[in-house]
Amino acid sequence: MNLPKLHGVHVPHRKNTADMAPVRMPVPPSVTIPMNMHIGAPAECVVKVGDTVKVGQLIAKAGGFVSSPVYASVSGKVKKIDDMLMSSGRFMKAVTIESDGEQTPFEGIAPPAVTDFPSFINAVRDSGVVGLGGAGFPTAVKLGVKDLSQIQAVIINGAECEPYVTSDTRTMLDDAEWIGKGIALLQKYLLAKRVVIGIESNKPQCVKAMQALAGGMTGVEVMALPPLYPQGGEKVLIYNTTGRIVPEGKLPLDAGAVVINCTTLAAIAKYIETGMPLVEKVVTVDGSAVAEPKNVIAPIGASMQALFDFCGGFKSDPGKVLYGGPMMGIAVPNTDFPVMKNTNAILAMDEKDATLPEPTACIRCGSCVDACPLRLMPAAIEAAYNKRNVDKLRALHANLCMECGCCAFVCPAKRMLVQTNKLAKGLIAADNAAKKAEADRKAKEAAEKAEKEAAVK
Ligand code: SF4
Ligand code: SF4
Repeated sequence: MNLPKLHGVHVPHRKNTADMAPVRMPVPPSVTIPMNMHIGAPAECVVKVGDTVKVGQLIAKAGGFVSSPVYASVSGKVKKIDDMLMSSGRFMKAVTIESDGEQTPFEGIAPPAVTDFPSFINAVRDSGVVGLGGAGFPTAVKLGVKDLSQIQAVIINGAECEPYVTSDTRTMLDDAEWIGKGIALLQKYLLAKRVVIGIESNKPQCVKAMQALAGGMTGVEVMALPPLYPQGGEKVLIYNTTGRIVPEGKLPLDAGAVVINCTTLAAIAKYIETGMPLVEKVVTVDGSAVAEPKNVIAPIGASMQALFDFCGGFKSDPGKVLYGGPMMGIAVPNTDFPVMKNTNAILAMDEKDATLPEPTACIRCGSCVDACPLRLMPAAIEAAYNKRNVDKLRALHANLCMECGCCAFVCPAKRMLVQTNKLAKGLIAADNAAKKAEADRKAKEAAEKAEKEAAVK
């Protein structure tokens, strides 16, 4: 397949933990589990303070169609149900469970009955699995395709392109069997004829492990992709594996593709075979301030600090702590924040690595445009945002920005391009909301007027 040159950047890999099989941390004294560990409506709590819970027991049901249930990750007692400050800056309900240290499994754990497509989707929904590569989108919604004939290719995302992060790498090396079982489920229930496992070529052990898996299956191929960031971005991966472009404002399915992260797929297969829903995560713990980087198997809701402690604590004062990798990760103000369903890494950077250089004036070099995988114009978006010109931001398709950070990474003037893009997207969203509110108000007024006129007649 001859495709045009892929935009993106070569980032340092720093995959220090790639050869480290995950190790299980001790059960923490308590876990705090938020109700919004996914995109969509928050889950609705079904337990109360004082309740005894066991591992895998439902503590919150899905709060809508685009939502996901939440399960207890430790056995013990519900100690607190309260609002907690999330990394987004918003408050969200969270359930704190005091662990009894026993990790007793819930007696209701049983493999779901999966016999056809609807029961498969129900099982995926009940598993509590969401996009585990970081996206957090409820997987049942993603896989709940109305017209299965639309699916030309199912792409298994093994492109773990963020520096440091190796949790998917470990899934491909340690859990290949579960990925294989997941693929068999997709072939059976999504009628997936073509399955492509996409991995960057700089992960030869993963390519080899997946080739061995594919060799024993039909309709499964492995594509070794250029080691360029953001190879794991959904649209980028679809383009590089199928040559198809997801149209603006459309979904991968509109390009005939369904993309699923390899760890997400393995988690679904585990649930369908064992009945144990998503209650723990493999989290890469790394960064220049961490004493002993590791891949850690952590119960969902364990505090970042508990994971750092398990990794020997800090060898120097952290200047920045991140959820996720250094390109797309979210900085947090303290280490009390919990491991969530979509947490694949937590990083602590020392003061030196955390210090950002002072931005200087844009020199119009065009490097940001050249690096952007979506062919956006970050410098022009920044200029339009500074003038609060929403129409111009729309014309520049600022809302398409996937916040990958390539533009800021290459910018010689160290402009804060990603942060500005986030603000620009917020400005467009606020303008859309204001316009919708105004349209709703006018429609309501017109309806009331028509009603009054009808009453007079
Ligand atoms: S404009 Fe957005 S999508 Fe393009 S490189 Fe920058 S952050 Fe990535
Ligand atoms: S890379 Fe930086 S300096 Fe170059 S055009 Fe973009 S914003 Fe300006």
